[in-house]
Amino acid sequence: MSFVLAFLCLGGIIALVFSYPRKRVLRIAAFQPAWRAFLERQVTFYRALDAAGRERFERGILDFWAHCAITGVQVQVTDEDRLLVAASAVIPIFAFPGWRYTNLDEVVLYPAMFNERFETAGDERGILGQVGAGVMSRKMLLSKPALHQGFMARNDGHNTGIHEFVHLIDARDGATDGLPKVLMDRPFAIPWMRLVKQEMERIHAGRSDIRPYGGVSETEFLPVVSEYFFERPDQLKSKHPELYAALERMFGPGRGDPAEATKPA
Ligand SMILES: [Zn+2]
Repeated sequence: MSFVLAFLCLGGIIALVFSYPRKRVLRIAAFQPAWRAFLERQVTFYRALDAAGRERFERGILDFWAHCAITGVQVQVTDEDRLLVAASAVIPIFAFPGWRYTNLDEVVLYPAMFNERFETAGDERGILGQVGAGVMSRKMLLSKPALHQGFMARNDGHNTGIHEFVHLIDARDGATDGLPKVLMDRPFAIPWMRLVKQEMERIHAGRSDIRPYGGVSETEFLPVVSEYFFERPDQLKSKHPELYAALERMFGPGRGDPAEATKPA
């Protein structure tokens, strides 16, 4: 009898382990017309694509949803939230076939800005988004209003979602330092750092139209200037041709080493 009980118990544990939902992901086969209309309204990057590009973008969204859970803390997660999170993820890796964020399991939406302790009430709440570390590793935290603000039609070159996903790409080589090895070969790192230093000095002197947060560190410069690159490429090209060329080299076709595409992180 005890053998049978032990057997049943073991079976139960095995069944629990295998049935436990490790990620609450969405597996959806077809893209809905309402989602397409929303992207067309809200996402300039998507609107600028041709039919084949839009289809690839939509497949990227479904693939992202199938591999990353999107949850909310004290906030309802809508289809529109899911679309904007996935769009923020797809935009930086759009030119890299087969790429996935293998260092991410979950995006957690918050109802407002939060602080270092992930509180949305009280003092020192200035964080719009963050890539988690320690117990929060493999998670990204985003303020829902900041996510939506980033895709507002006025396109100010500030996009919290894109910003955080660029941090994740940078983190792929194990160091979040503004030098993503998957996007640049070694000889390119030195001229890139020279460009970064020059422009950070301009930011500090108040002589750059790149937002001041880009001057905080080399690590923040890359995501800040990437927001500008993906949101207002024409303006970046005319005002900062060297930076534009460097970013095009990093995020354009031919980068994002295919061997890295789905490598587990
Ligand atoms: Zn940042």
